[in-house]
Amino acid sequence: MPQCGMTVSSPAEEIRFFLPGPAYVLEDVRRALTAPMVAHRSPEFKDLYRSVTERLKPVFRTQQEVLTATGSATLLMELAVVSTVRRDVLHLVNGAFSARWHAVSLAAGKQADRIDVPWGRAVDPDLVRQALGRKRYDAVTLVHNETSTGVVNPLEDIARGVKESSDALILVDAVSSLGGAPVETDAWGLDLVLTGGQKALALPPGLSFFTASDRALEQAETVVPRGFYTDLLRYRDKHEAAGPITTPMISAFYAADVQLDRILNEGMEARWQRHRELAEATSEWVEARGLTWACDRAHRSWTVSCLRPPPGVAAPEVVAAAAEKGYTLGPGYGDFKPTTFRIGHMGEVRPRDLARLLAVLDDVLDELQGSSKRD
Ligand code: PLP
Repeated sequence: MPQCGMTVSSPAEEIRFFLPGPAYVLEDVRRALTAPMVAHRSPEFKDLYRSVTERLKPVFRTQQEVLTATGSATLLMELAVVSTVRRDVLHLVNGAFSARWHAVSLAAGKQADRIDVPWGRAVDPDLVRQALGRKRYDAVTLVHNETSTGVVNPLEDIARGVKESSDALILVDAVSSLGGAPVETDAWGLDLVLTGGQKALALPPGLSFFTASDRALEQAETVVPRGFYTDLLRYRDKHEAAGPITTPMISAFYAADVQLDRILNEGMEARWQRHRELAEATSEWVEARGLTWACDRAHRSWTVSCLRPPPGVAAPEVVAAAAEKGYTLGPGYGDFKPTTFRIGHMGEVRPRDLARLLAVLDDVLDELQGSSKRD
């Protein structure tokens, strides 16, 4: 691939961008985007493609092939249902992105049922077992880490329940967890796991990644039609020839080439541990400040904290005041838009970056609470 003087050393960049996706992208990865183009069917690109997809296997914790798509993660949510669901699909819904998956299935003409859990709560594996006892489904979908509420669902237990009580595939959106919290594709028997590059992998948006089990691939053979850009088997067949299905975002592959070395040098366990420590440091601050969470304590995400502001302060005011001080937070999302703000502590965020943000938020909240008392 073209040389552009990239390194994988960890530059001492100060991160002030805490959006829960896209996450902050480090400078050497950004610079990689500017390398010259190559032909996407050339031997050079095939080498890069093979190298990137091989290095994604330990990230997904799988021996299966990791496939890539140029497009955002929603494309893969659509691909998953279009390619593997003949008729009936069950969606576990506890936030905006899990509700989106249900909407995607309806738009694709599937018989899409949903179990709704209040926003801010995790999905109970027993509810899933009960639903699977009542009706047969081709697949069950779950968003592992609900970015809209900061809830992480008990994926391992739910996947076990699905396997023990049915022959449904388990399709997993790991968009805001993969790379920042454990996702054990093979050990947990997950049939399709998808993610976007722009969250805990800290890549620029544009490329999405997924794996499919043999069972998922076999089931796809029985589904007609599967579309073209959404055809899982087309991705598998092209991948076997070391290529993407169409012209890929080549520059995003250059970026992934640099960033995957950084991720694997850190090591998956160490990366998860860093994210866990970021979530814990945020928790300590939240408790010291007397703020409240928008989600259950037992199911708090390691990559995103969804918080309610103190009484008298509006969530959008917190986001705006932080922006004035040069810090980007996530606003609330979907039903939680007016009442919450979110701290995305994912990707390459270090404890020192978070500590600086929390100190700034102390000032922001003091000022906003001071002015709300004067009003
Ligand atoms: N799923 C989850 C959990 C997300 O957080 C997002 C985006 O924030 C998506 C899906 C959709 O991703 P994209 O915007 O890449 O399509």
